[in-house]
Amino acid sequence: MKDATTNSTASDQQIVAPVTVARRRRDSSSLKPVTNPAQVDEVVGHVALGTAEDVDDAVAAADEAFTAWSALSAAERAQLLLEAAEAIEVGVPDRARLLTRENGKILQESEADAMGAVRILRYYAGLVEEYTQDEVIEDARGRIVLTRRPMGVGAVIVPWNTPVLLAFLMIAPALLAGNTIVVKPSEMTPLALDDTLRILAEKLPPGVVNVVPGYGDQVGSALVRHPRVRKISFTGSVDTGRAIMREAASTVKNLGLELGGNDPALVLQSATIDDELISELIRGVYQSSGQICYGVKRIYVHRTHYDDFVDRFTQAADQIVVGDGLDAQSTIGPLNNERQYCFVKDLIEETKLSGAVVRTVGKKLDPATWEGGYFLLPSVVTDLSPDANLITCEQFGPVVPVMPFDDEEEAVRLANDSEFGLAASVWTNDIDHGFEVARRIEAGSVFVNIHRVGASDVSMPFGGFKQSGVGRGHGFVALEENSELQTLAHRTDM
Ligand code: NAD
Repeated sequence: MKDATTNSTASDQQIVAPVTVARRRRDSSSLKPVTNPAQVDEVVGHVALGTAEDVDDAVAAADEAFTAWSALSAAERAQLLLEAAEAIEVGVPDRARLLTRENGKILQESEADAMGAVRILRYYAGLVEEYTQDEVIEDARGRIVLTRRPMGVGAVIVPWNTPVLLAFLMIAPALLAGNTIVVKPSEMTPLALDDTLRILAEKLPPGVVNVVPGYGDQVGSALVRHPRVRKISFTGSVDTGRAIMREAASTVKNLGLELGGNDPALVLQSATIDDELISELIRGVYQSSGQICYGVKRIYVHRTHYDDFVDRFTQAADQIVVGDGLDAQSTIGPLNNERQYCFVKDLIEETKLSGAVVRTVGKKLDPATWEGGYFLLPSVVTDLSPDANLITCEQFGPVVPVMPFDDEEEAVRLANDSEFGLAASVWTNDIDHGFEVARRIEAGSVFVNIHRVGASDVSMPFGGFKQSGVGRGHGFVALEENSELQTLAHRTDM
């Protein structure tokens, strides 16, 4: 199995994600096929491979549009975002199907992803009053006003796993705050996002939203190095986050980095191992075949519950049906791309060779087409050494290690023994105690008795401790992160 990576024309498929500058969609001589991970020889559409020149043009258009866009009142911008949300909502069902075909996840999850654009635009438009309140301090020093100013041109760099929703978590606060943007979709899943951005761009003045798809080390890197780009909003892997920090240093850019995770779930002695706990953790681990940044990546269970937990969890994982995300019988779809598929497959092989116990469970929906997609059955792993790669890395696949602990000190130490710090969870019948344990965990979000998509909603600040990121997204804080705080002062005391 191989990704189709050769250049080709779009004649066999009508769907193309092009370079879009000031609403004009450019013909591109260099296109890459976007294939269906459930059926790798199916070309779903094509993506333009943008160039450094495209980046220059897009940044110039965004720069030109900035003066007028930032001069509108925030309320006027909010009104335009609401109109865009309404127009985007119309195409959500079709876009969700397209998203499943390019990403692999099940249709229900693609619907939530595609609808995310609408919900997020509405959410940020609703914050406009709060956002436009200056803080005025009148005291013995005179009058001091703290106000917010837009930054200028922002670059928004998007991963493949939840492309529409994650893009809009970065885009909506940037636009409401008065910035103009250049979006770099993932080369793996550009199609549904491009269709959403096309509508957004049409609803806003030309140049406010520009799109340059292509490879990260070309388009992404050119954006990060561009002197007129003031802010990079990036969601993706830790490795790419590091590269962006290095490259952004020469022009001292403002960075928002939402990076990878290796989230622990701690099942305390005070938890009851019932169907609800098991089914919540099954969703937390295997949703989207484990390709969720704040999916559960390690489970630690108090020794009194350990055997029971492993039995029940494995039985529940065995009910998972792996198949094409468009088929309503599938619980999970394939992995998104060849690189991720090979990485997870190799990790499982390596774990088996190390002597750990790997239980591979679940059902193949359609064994006849299995080899034609990046499908993997779910696995539950026990008896590993604490330094096994499966425990220390971000697996981003349908496999999870389950380890016992003897006391909470040990559980907290194991949870924190990682360079990642995105999210975590504590499972207990004693909610107050759950919060106490949560406060000791080094992670940007710690949930009690839940840990799956939806646990963190758009209004809840989100981001990573340690190498899981820089800054915070979601909620009001994302508006602060997309604007400069300006201090105005009239001193009468000196
Ligand atoms: P990735 O880092 O490989 O790519 C993300 C984006 O960066 C893509 O658009 C890519 O083309 C671009 N890119 C690659 N190299 C670049 C460079 N040198 N300069 C600029 N841009 C470059 O990540 P991915 O594989 O698409 O996504 C999976 C990763 O994203 C996982 O680690 C996951 O945990 C993380 N993620 C984090 C969050 C979060 O909110 N913290 C959310 C979703 C995904």
